[in-house]
Amino acid sequence: MSAPSVPYPFEAPASATLFERASAALPGGVNSPVRAFRAVGGTPRFTDRAAGPYLWDVDGRRYVDLVCSWGPMILGHAHPAVLDAVTTAAGRGFSYGTPAEGEVALAEELVDRVAPLEQVRLVSSGTEATMSAVRLARGFTGRDVVVKFAGCYHGHVDALLASAGSGLATFALPDTPGVTAAASKDTLVLPYNDEAALRAAFDEHGPRIACVITEAAAGNMGVVAPVPGFTRALLDTTAEHGALLISDEVMTGFRCSSSGWFGLEGPYDGAGRDGRNAPDLFTFGKVMGGGFPVAAFGGRADVMASLSPLGPVYQAGTLSGNPVASAAGLATLQQCTPEVYAAVDAAAATLKGAASAALLEAGVPHAVGSAGSMFSIFLTTATGATPEQVGGPVTDYATARTQDTAAYAAFFHEMLSRGVHLPPSTYESWFLSASHDDAALDQVLEALPHAARAAAAVPSATR
Ligand SMILES: *Cc1c(COP(=O)(O)O)cnc(C)c1O
Repeated sequence: MSAPSVPYPFEAPASATLFERASAALPGGVNSPVRAFRAVGGTPRFTDRAAGPYLWDVDGRRYVDLVCSWGPMILGHAHPAVLDAVTTAAGRGFSYGTPAEGEVALAEELVDRVAPLEQVRLVSSGTEATMSAVRLARGFTGRDVVVKFAGCYHGHVDALLASAGSGLATFALPDTPGVTAAASKDTLVLPYNDEAALRAAFDEHGPRIACVITEAAAGNMGVVAPVPGFTRALLDTTAEHGALLISDEVMTGFRCSSSGWFGLEGPYDGAGRDGRNAPDLFTFGKVMGGGFPVAAFGGRADVMASLSPLGPVYQAGTLSGNPVASAAGLATLQQCTPEVYAAVDAAAATLKGAASAALLEAGVPHAVGSAGSMFSIFLTTATGATPEQVGGPVTDYATARTQDTAAYAAFFHEMLSRGVHLPPSTYESWFLSASHDDAALDQVLEALPHAARAAAAVPSATR
């Protein structure tokens, strides 16, 4: 995506200098592509420190942070209880290479919170979690094919970096150079929220399908929740054909509720053909690590028993269950009380409503996507949105992709200039934390009408 040309309302000389230095030692100056601001243009702000709802950049400017490290910081930055747990854990050594109690306590916390989870294995990133869950599903079923949905992101796993082939029920093509045709040839990519496509794929390939992996509620094409009945259809179809359902809750887990998206939508009564009322496997990351590299996959005990050392499916990690990261994750989850979720939900509702109202006032067509406290604003007319009437929801990647990225870039930079750091891409959720108090929210509320007018001023083919 090329950088749209929008005026950048203020300079960030210290960030610019660091970005130049970074670009010599790091490809693109970053360690994860979206941080480079390519989708919105301009200089990424280099963070000096973070506390509560705020980031301070190296130029000394303060921003209300609506990225929250892409989800993990649900308590806000540098929460005292988490800081204390991390400091204490680090004082007892950084990594043991032996089992330790902290990782057991974190695993128990996950199992206690999400009813269908019987066992988990800890890993170090969401990517590792989904990669391992897919391997486990293939090993357990003795089948090769994995079904995923267009626009759902499951980390940078080769088999999951694939796009739809020429027909709905044909196998996928690599989404990036470096993924071989062999790695994507056992992946089927279907439209999200499309039950008919799902049934057609199973009719044609059922006996070869090991698993379906889906974002519990999609947050990586903007926020697109499953339409009512879709998760139920996933359960039924996989059960009918002896495949497993993997619910990727890396983003939604312990954010949408104390037990993630499952806590909002599940258990799924009306029972599937074999009486299942929940996905077979789940993946977690982000919030459960509290900002440290820890993630997990888990689910049915009989499936997890296929995992090494109990079973034949190999999986391992030098830093898996790391004591400092486990302490951070456990302390974070212990602080995630009903009051915390209520605060995050309320803050999200306030900003979601205000963003939509500001855009409406400025005459910018848009749709709002939400899943619990996760939400995003789609600057699109594709759902029938007009300045007078906000349109219906975006339900899949095809409609999500109709967004006006130039209008978003203008919106983003106007917010940034007013001290609000939004995700630097329109395909991302806005994230809140329990530390976003009235002072922080007021700053966002004051900035929104200006940003909406900046978006309205961008000439666009879609308006
Ligand atoms: C972030 C994310 C991942 C990947 O996690 P990493 O820790 O970045 O590897 C996987 N699935 C979903 C749904 C995510 O949002």
